[in-house]
Amino acid sequence: MRVLLVEDQAALRGAVTQVLEHHGHQVFQAEHATQALDIFHAEHPDLLLLDVVLPDQDGYWLARQIREAEGAQWTPIIFLSSMDHDVDLWQGIEAGGDDYLIKPVSEMVLRSKLLAMQRLLDMRRQLISVAEELRRANEHLRHQSAHDDLTGLANRRSFNAELHAQIAAARRSGEPLTLILCDVDHFKRYNDSQGHLEGDRCLQHIASLLKSVCRRPCDQAARYGGEEFGLILPNTPKSGAMTFARALQQMLNQQALPHPDSPLGSLVTISGGITTCVPDAETTAQSLLMRADEALYRAKSNGRNRFFSLEMQLDSLQSAPGMATI
Ligand SMILES: [Mg+2]
Repeated sequence: MRVLLVEDQAALRGAVTQVLEHHGHQVFQAEHATQALDIFHAEHPDLLLLDVVLPDQDGYWLARQIREAEGAQWTPIIFLSSMDHDVDLWQGIEAGGDDYLIKPVSEMVLRSKLLAMQRLLDMRRQLISVAEELRRANEHLRHQSAHDDLTGLANRRSFNAELHAQIAAARRSGEPLTLILCDVDHFKRYNDSQGHLEGDRCLQHIASLLKSVCRRPCDQAARYGGEEFGLILPNTPKSGAMTFARALQQMLNQQALPHPDSPLGSLVTISGGITTCVPDAETTAQSLLMRADEALYRAKSNGRNRFFSLEMQLDSLQSAPGMATI
C-alpha cells in the first residue's frame, strides 16, 4: 500500500517507516498537518497513519479535512497516538478515523491493522467496479430498449414516446409539427430477388440517409417497423416539410442504390406521407399517425417514388400553383 505517515517525532517516524517499508509498503512522510494535506492531494495514498498531537493543526482536524475533501471516496485513516483515554479514541473515530492505536505500537499489531484495512479497501474497490459494471449494463439495456438493432435508429416505442412529447411541446409553443411516414418501394421484391442480407443492408442504408437529413438535434428518425420509417420534424411548416422530402429523395437518387426488380426503374426508391399541423387539444399521436398513413397511401396510389403532403394535397413530383418546380 501507499501509506501517508503523519508524525512529528523524527525518531518514531523513522522507525515506523522502516517497518512499513520492510513489509513492502511505500511511505510518504509528513511532519505536520497542513503538509500532510498537500501530500494527500498530490499522492492519493491508500491509507493514512496519523498522529494526533502535531505542531500546527491536530490529527482530528486533518481527518476532517480529508473526509470532507474526498466526498464519495474513502481512504482508511488509522490514528497512532499516545493519548490513551476512551474519549481520545472516540474523538478520533468521530473525526473520521477508522481505527485508533496507542503508541508505542508493536510491529505485529501495525501489520495486522494494515492487512485488515487492505481487505476492506479491496472489498470496497470490488463493489465500486461491480456497481460501475451494473451501471454500464443498465445504460446498454436502456439504449437497446429504445433503439432498433439493425439500423441503430430509434425504435417504434421510443418514436411514439417522442411523438407524444413533441405534440405537447408544439401545442404549448404554437409551432407547426411535421410527421412523415415513409417506406421502401417494392421492398418485398427487393428481398425476394436480392436475399434478406442485402435487404438488411438496404434498410441500413436508408436509415443512415434519414439520420443524415435530420440535421437539427430535435429532428428524429426512427424505424417504425419492417421497411417503414418515421420522421418527426418539430417547428417545420408544410412547405418546409415538402422541401425536406424533396431533398431526401434527391439524395437517395444520387446514391443510386440498385433495385434490379423494381417495377419503377432500376433504383431503390421510397414513398412518404407527410402531415403537418399546429396541434390543438384534439391532436393525438394516433390521429397524426393515421393522417401520415393516409398521406403515404396517397403517395403510393399516385405511383410511388414520391412524398404526399396531406395538408397541401400535393406530392413531391407536382408543383403547387405559384410554386417553382424543384
Ligand atoms: Mg505528535
